[in-house]
Amino acid sequence: MAQIELTPQGDACETRYARGRIHSVETMGTVDGPGIRFVVFMQGCPLRCLYCHNPDTWDAGAAAGTEVTVEQLVEEFESNRQFYKNGGITVSGGEPLLQPEFLADLFAAMHARSEGRVHTCLDSCGYAFDPAHPERTARVLDACDLVLLDIKHADPAGHRALTGRDPARILAFGDELARRKIPVVIRHVVVPGYTDTPEECEALGRLIAPWQNVVGLEMLPYHTLGVVKYEKLGLTYPLDGVPEMDKARIPELRAAVMRGMRAARQG
Ligand code: SF4
Repeated sequence: MAQIELTPQGDACETRYARGRIHSVETMGTVDGPGIRFVVFMQGCPLRCLYCHNPDTWDAGAAAGTEVTVEQLVEEFESNRQFYKNGGITVSGGEPLLQPEFLADLFAAMHARSEGRVHTCLDSCGYAFDPAHPERTARVLDACDLVLLDIKHADPAGHRALTGRDPARILAFGDELARRKIPVVIRHVVVPGYTDTPEECEALGRLIAPWQNVVGLEMLPYHTLGVVKYEKLGLTYPLDGVPEMDKARIPELRAAVMRGMRAARQG
């Protein structure tokens, strides 16, 4: 199976990995999609979000992570299947769309289970979507029931400052999901000094307003639980000194997103 990998410059290229490379699995996930879920964290990410709490998933090199087959993950899922009857499988990361062929096979296998179709959810930043080659991710989306789409910043310059990447591919991925009418939950990490103003949140609302397939909005307060991982990896923590987000402000900022969305749809 061919996999798409992004070079440091962000161009898509073919690599020769035949199987999936994962970071880890969580057998009782409760925050990444509906119900109790089997969550697979894929290895490799093209973004470098300043607040990332999983820097150990970044490395997309051939030696990083653990190589697995679809069958191994299906077997592990089936060993706990009774817990997932109101949930399903979520593939997160890192960035799952860096390994579209593996992901497509995994989702298709989950849909085809003779014990019953399994609900599939993709948790993605969308950056690995190539609008010039939508066919590369078509099989993934054909077998995807829900997408948790991370929109990191409403403003392109702010997005580049926060993630190191331009948001154009991510917005193109959002357009593709809307075209396909795949239900989407928007996720937005609220970081003090970066994404915690009503103006930015209203802009986010305007940005996502054209997507009629948006079924939910999760405003995730920034936390510092990942700091210890940076220390272990010998990396400098980019947001050193930035306080955790005050959760009491989340309703106000959520309302700002909804306001922006309504205004754009009415205008
Ligand atoms: S997209 Fe996710 S895994 Fe990648 S750097 Fe950002 S927060 Fe970390």
